[in-house]
Amino acid sequence: MSMSYPGVHTRDPIKKRRRLLKGNLLLLIELQECDSQLVMFMVRKKNLPEKLDKLDAKLLAFKDEIEQNKKKHDQLKSLHTDKEKEIKKLNENAAKAKEKLLEVKNNKEYQAMLKEIEIAESSCGNVETEIISILEELDKVSLLAKKDEESLNQQKKKYEEEKKQIEADLNTIDEDFVKWEQKRNDLRKKIPDDLLAKYEKIKNRNNGVGVISVWKEVCNGCHMNIPPQLYNELQKSLELISCPNCNRIIYFQNREKPA
Ligand SMILES: [Zn+2]
Repeated sequence: MSMSYPGVHTRDPIKKRRRLLKGNLLLLIELQECDSQLVMFMVRKKNLPEKLDKLDAKLLAFKDEIEQNKKKHDQLKSLHTDKEKEIKKLNENAAKAKEKLLEVKNNKEYQAMLKEIEIAESSCGNVETEIISILEELDKVSLLAKKDEESLNQQKKKYEEEKKQIEADLNTIDEDFVKWEQKRNDLRKKIPDDLLAKYEKIKNRNNGVGVISVWKEVCNGCHMNIPPQLYNELQKSLELISCPNCNRIIYFQNREKPA
């Protein structure tokens, strides 16, 4: 292993070039990390408010759903009131008919009156049956409404927590973005202009990735195989090498024994 350090002059031109290449590659790798991070921050910054909107919509939809049960509850209540009134009226009618029964003069009238009472009483029975089923339904809906209320409170709590987290994330992203942007600007100053231009050009053509590692003869950018000869060359080259398939600047990285 060579004991030369950056800034220490060496008379061996090959060592010097290798050191220069290695230095530039390291800068490019760091720059790539910065660029990728910045893209990721931008994506998250765009996605988080959308996530927040979805959260709002979800809570609103849930409130709407709950409203349906409340409405049903109110409808059943008023139906119950109507039916009670109806029964009261029917009872009154039956009572009146029974009073008149004492005043009838002949059998024909008597039979007609009996019929009237019978109808009123049987109607009463029917309405009572209806009321029972309304009350049963009302019990069910009341229980649902109570459960809805509990769920709504839980949903609200969850909503507040998630909202808080998203807002905190947004703040963190802004801070991180500034930090990584500063780091990127510092790195760019250290990289030779022509190399920087080359990196930018390749990066812009390749989904934001201009420099990528190669391991076991596979380019990690396009996942295609690198010819064995080029793979060998990559490990000892003094020049920058590009992937023959995706054209990204490639470097050898032993993934089992990280540098
Ligand atoms: Zn490739």
